[in-house]
Amino acid sequence: MTRPNWPESSHSFNEPQGRAESRSLKGKGRIERGKSLGGRGRISPPKSTSCGLFMAKEIVLLGATGSIGTQTLDVCRSHLDRLRPVGLSAHSRVDLLIEQAREFAPRRVVITDESKRSSLGPATFPSGTEIGWGEAGIEEMVTDPAVDTIVAAMVGAAGLKGTIRALQAGKNVALANKETLVVGGPIVTNLARSRSCSLLPIDSEHSAVFQCLQNGRKNEVARIVLTASGGPFRTRPIDTLRSATIQEALAHPTWNMGPKITIDSATMMNKALEIIEAHWLFDFSADQIDVVIHPQSIVHSMVEYQDGSVIAQVSPPDMRLPIQYALTFPDRLPSPARKLNLRERSAWEFSEPESARYPALELGFEVIRRGGTSGSALNAANEVAVVRFLEGSIRFTDIVPLCEAILVQHPFVASPSLEDLLRVDQWARQEAGLWTPSV
Ligand code: NAD
Ligand code: MG
Repeated sequence: MTRPNWPESSHSFNEPQGRAESRSLKGKGRIERGKSLGGRGRISPPKSTSCGLFMAKEIVLLGATGSIGTQTLDVCRSHLDRLRPVGLSAHSRVDLLIEQAREFAPRRVVITDESKRSSLGPATFPSGTEIGWGEAGIEEMVTDPAVDTIVAAMVGAAGLKGTIRALQAGKNVALANKETLVVGGPIVTNLARSRSCSLLPIDSEHSAVFQCLQNGRKNEVARIVLTASGGPFRTRPIDTLRSATIQEALAHPTWNMGPKITIDSATMMNKALEIIEAHWLFDFSADQIDVVIHPQSIVHSMVEYQDGSVIAQVSPPDMRLPIQYALTFPDRLPSPARKLNLRERSAWEFSEPESARYPALELGFEVIRRGGTSGSALNAANEVAVVRFLEGSIRFTDIVPLCEAILVQHPFVASPSLEDLLRVDQWARQEAGLWTPSV
């Protein structure tokens, strides 16, 4: 697996983390039963022909119609000589997938929501494009021998199986779907390493850390500092958060993203998931990972070395930069992303996240300490909690207590198989649907 600029560490990726006893988590709230609610690793250089010309890298884009998906296509549009999307998937936005297929003429498209079969007209996709369906279609698309890289840009744990299948087939993965590492961190990172596949981050904080880590060795790092915008409720009185509306929670101040990650940013569960993602990507322990609030979203994250030097990656908030870096690494090419204008009057602020405002953060550290199936439980609980909040069946301030209750109460397995992770995922989804707040 391509890891940052350091030799392989002696730490084993799938070492069980043990079940550290939690002192801080109480698992508040009630689950109502019987009621159904709902280093220097290997880097693959661009392929070249016998006459020395670069061949375009063939890319499969899972989640092509989402925020990351459409921005990935924008990057491809700027570098069609290097990046060729030959496979696209969408869940339900078939109209946009058709438009994308007409522009990029991929070999295959896959629609994962199989209920769309009946409504699909006969001549909607270009004649050379094969149409696949569901998980089987994804599997066929990501194992295509000609494909070099899979961009995992689906939302939620739905991204896990496709990524695992791609790594098993020896494909490089550019990973936006953080839930994949939160749920299946040890399995995914072990697979990447054993198949010598690169696993490069698209998430802006992790791309920033990855870029900063090119400046030293792993044993020279004191800590990594993930920045967080603070979301839409950074300055709102904490005692009014209980009545936060869906529209208020969806109004992110600096990033324009899909609805799930936008709610996760308001609760800061997004940063909790990113703490776990950083742990698996870079092999740092919970006490080497720090979070600071940086409302401008310009410093995307930092690495502090033992000598006190702090290296930061700085650019305007535009996901096309980390997407492109993951697809062209180690090369840096001109990018469609916005450029920083340091002559513009601006102030960059940093502050400590308040634990009373952002109780989700601690859950990220707790999952690293507990290890095993904890990430699967937390992620599934959060996915359900976000849907329940968006449907209006729980309040904004119920999201974190729900997640904490499921994390604490789930049937823990210290060294889980994929089946164990999926079983916990299912259990957590069901229980999260039944959870009611304590009065
Ligand atoms: P989005 O909701 O805009 O798009 C999600 C994509 O996944 C769509 O193409 C959709 O068709 C597909 N999808 C949805 N449900 C699916 C299912 N059940 N099975 C298969 N495909 C499904 O989401 P997004 O904001 O693009 O985020 C995608 C991933 O990238 C998430 O994991 C998110 O955390 C991560 N991420 C996003 C951003 C961002 O700026 N948007 C930044 C960093 C990381
Ligand atoms: Mg991020």
